[in-house]
Amino acid sequence: MIEFNHATGSLRPALEGANILITGGAGFLGSHLADLLVSRGNHVYCLDNFHTGRASNLSRLQFSNRLSVVQHDVTDELPDTLPKFAEIYNLACPASPVHYQADPVSTAMINCKGAWNVLRRAERDGARVFHASTSEIYGDPEIHPQPEHYWGNVNTVGPRSCYDEGKRFAETLFTDFGKTRGVIVRMVRIFNTYGPRMQPDDGRVVSNFVIQALLGQPLTVYGDGSQTRSFCYVDDLIRGFDLLMRSEVADSPVNLGNPGEFTMEELAHLVLEITGSRSPIVRLPLPVDDPKRRKPDISKASEHLGWRPEVSLREGLLKTIEYFDGELRRQPAAAISAAE
Ligand code: NAD
Ligand code: UDP
Repeated sequence: MIEFNHATGSLRPALEGANILITGGAGFLGSHLADLLVSRGNHVYCLDNFHTGRASNLSRLQFSNRLSVVQHDVTDELPDTLPKFAEIYNLACPASPVHYQADPVSTAMINCKGAWNVLRRAERDGARVFHASTSEIYGDPEIHPQPEHYWGNVNTVGPRSCYDEGKRFAETLFTDFGKTRGVIVRMVRIFNTYGPRMQPDDGRVVSNFVIQALLGQPLTVYGDGSQTRSFCYVDDLIRGFDLLMRSEVADSPVNLGNPGEFTMEELAHLVLEITGSRSPIVRLPLPVDDPKRRKPDISKASEHLGWRPEVSLREGLLKTIEYFDGELRRQPAAAISAAE
């Protein structure tokens, strides 16, 4: 039965009992997606090399016989021992600037060789394939907010290029497999997403500020703090993933993000207010090529998928702070201090 959402698009029914592969399944987003797909009775294979992912992210599913964890690097051909998949979600790639810049060649290769391995597998299995792209493909945008038809303003040879250009190339490869090889492709451009299970030391602004505030350390605002980002809570994003994958409207990529726009200075003050922390704010140099502003135009997601984020930044931060507070109580503070 096809379900119609309140917008114009039709949705195919959610799969139940199918084999589904998530590359990067032990990561922040991958583990939340695994929760959803397993809860529907699918058998989920999380393929991950544990570069930035953690087995503990999947601990809620550890006793489920519908979860298989496969330690594997996506840049190596996918194992033949895996079953035939009905769907593949391609999420494998470090997402924070600290991690993706640590080995830029590897980051670029994940987005070409890794994407190639995933697409060939999707073609062989007849699987519908989902690709996690990023708002970084817009670079330091000259159009605000950013609609999908904006082509971006990206440095090809800067420190962020391995990721930005890698993701741009991956979009091309996924699109062309769709056009010429009959693979059904769904691509999402994700804007900054946060929530429980972010890696404490991956240097992203939300995890840094929250951990710093909870530990009473200075909050590290880079530059003058006037640069903006739009923060989406993880549950809203995963709901969007599901709608996009089930959508029969083939028009992707689609932006998913929360259009609320905040300066980093505002974010720091909000975290201080919610945590009640008395940490000071310190200024550190702005990283090279740091985008000055970012905000999604979500008209397409809203029209085609009936999707809008529902969790405000304040609500989402409360849940994230609660999560990191629990983590800090379980682990010695020294082992978990935020990356600068
Ligand atoms: P994450 O770092 O928590 O997850 C990435 C996962 O991929 C990790 O489990 C990591 O171990 C795994 N991985 C990395 N290299 C691999 C390789 N060569 N082979 C197999 N596994 C590998 O990050 P995340 O936030 O969950 O991001 C997931 C995806 O979403 C990424 O593709 C990222 O680019 C994209 N994305 C995320 C955001 C965000 O705000 N979270 C924004 C834009 C795009
Ligand atoms: N940032 C900051 N302090 C930090 C970490 C990040 O001010 O401790 C800034 C960073 O310079 C950027 C914004 O916060 O302007 C978002 O950074 P993040 O690494 O989370 O994501 P991205 O730059 O990829 O959007």
